[in-house]
Amino acid sequence: MGTRPKLGRKERGGGPKVENEDKPNPDLLEPHTLRSLSNVQAVSIHTGCSGCHFVVIDIDGNAWLFGRNGSNALGVEGVEYISENAPRKLSPVELGAGKKTKFVHAACGRNHTLLVDSDGAVWTAGANTYGQCGHPTCPDISAFKQVAGFQHQGNKEHAIQVSAGVTFSVVLTASGKVFSFGSAEKGQLGNGTTGERITTGNKTAYDIEPYPIYIKELDGKQIVQITSGPQHSAAVDIEGVVYVWGYNGYCRLGLGNQVDVLKPKAVPQFAGPNKPTMGAMVVGGPSNTVVVDRQGMYWMAGKWKNSGEGSSGSPYSTFRVMQDIMTCKILLARCGGVTHWALTPDDDDPVMTVGWGQNAANGELGLGPDEPKSATKPTRHVPLTGIEVFDIAAGQNTTLFLAPPSEKMSDVPRHPLEVNPPATCVACSTDHGEDDDPLECEKCDSPYHLQCLTPPLSAVPAGEWFCPECLDDPGAPVGAWAVKKPKSKGKKAQAPQPMDEDDEEEEEGLKRKASGKGRGGEKTGVNYSPEPTSNFKYLMESE
Ligand SMILES: [Zn+2]
Ligand SMILES: [Zn+2]
Repeated sequence: MGTRPKLGRKERGGGPKVENEDKPNPDLLEPHTLRSLSNVQAVSIHTGCSGCHFVVIDIDGNAWLFGRNGSNALGVEGVEYISENAPRKLSPVELGAGKKTKFVHAACGRNHTLLVDSDGAVWTAGANTYGQCGHPTCPDISAFKQVAGFQHQGNKEHAIQVSAGVTFSVVLTASGKVFSFGSAEKGQLGNGTTGERITTGNKTAYDIEPYPIYIKELDGKQIVQITSGPQHSAAVDIEGVVYVWGYNGYCRLGLGNQVDVLKPKAVPQFAGPNKPTMGAMVVGGPSNTVVVDRQGMYWMAGKWKNSGEGSSGSPYSTFRVMQDIMTCKILLARCGGVTHWALTPDDDDPVMTVGWGQNAANGELGLGPDEPKSATKPTRHVPLTGIEVFDIAAGQNTTLFLAPPSEKMSDVPRHPLEVNPPATCVACSTDHGEDDDPLECEKCDSPYHLQCLTPPLSAVPAGEWFCPECLDDPGAPVGAWAVKKPKSKGKKAQAPQPMDEDDEEEEEGLKRKASGKGRGGEKTGVNYSPEPTSNFKYLMESE
């Protein structure tokens, strides 16, 4: 394993599994605050349920990227991953966009990434063998490149949201129109055809659309949110009608059968006219789809567990209410590779985080080091009690939470646990003996005497405190990743780590292996958008 972080990676075969001790990059079995971004003010976090990489968008519109860099999905060449301890900062300006342009949305497939900016442009990087980056097919797009061609009847369309499967991508525009590109194999492009044909050598081929195509079937519907699993998608319109299309194994589209759907089809259960039972949010999971209706009720279709009702032998063929949380008003839902998440108001707290997943063997649920790793039924997330989680990025084997700083947060362990700070005050390097009680930086643990700061402090500040160096360079790498660099600006942090084997499982995942992406997007009918207050914290668990 070397020193490579296991972010998003499953332990593979061979040998007994060594539990955490002595591993350079142990599974995190409970949420930890991510030091590297602890003083970056994030507004949203993004990944996909087959994604092993993440995009954090901050209030200034920068994207912070980290995780596995399969097929250069993070838009850089020559590294197999970017450590979460040294995330890559990317601004739209660096890609050639205007000075005031911000990133506003993102999506991660297994090995590709989409970024949306405030000018309505979509930028992609990573695997492009099926045109899933919206460019003529090639092994990969190694640096973020703008996707052209979001046009409808001669008018330029302004992208606002993206979702990604393994071999395709979907884009929603401000006018409520939906575009897709990539492989049509399972109908996931929603254009009514797979293009299946026999080619030379008796091989079956399918259509590939490397440029955005307008999904005509949704013409006239004003779509407000899109989501994708590995090979299927769902959308909800402003009325609350839910549409599904693509691969339908395990009845994941909730239509009562397993026939792939080549054009968006309205799900009868959410087609009205009774408003409260229509859709507000859709989430594509690895082998399932979730709909949160307008009264906040959680509905599931497909396979979402390993045994009993809801498993492969007996999937939910139509959308069913999740019994254990049927009295909860769901504010947000997400599906990771082996996890399901819901946020709901709590009696005493603003929000309760609920998680479950039967196959979560690597701490993806983060229920605590002494707790079971997996949970068949929706379970209150005890370590997150009192923490006001307002966004969740559930990846294949890693989960991120976004929450504002709070008293409670200071009890949460930090990642990495140890960062080897200087032993004495950074400013004066003096130890005053017994009474020496310097202030410690929340992010890098560096000690400073109150009187050594400029200006000096007379008392320990309330809440979190960051040292001058960390304030000077928010998002800078921490611990072993914090390579001291010259004070010149403009160069971004990258993982100074060795490389490893490439991951060639892509096609595998298209079959029965559960993987895909779960995303909700910000603009849903569910009314839950706490004010960005101060700095947001990232809580991270699993690998
Ligand atoms: Zn000092
Ligand atoms: Zn610091």
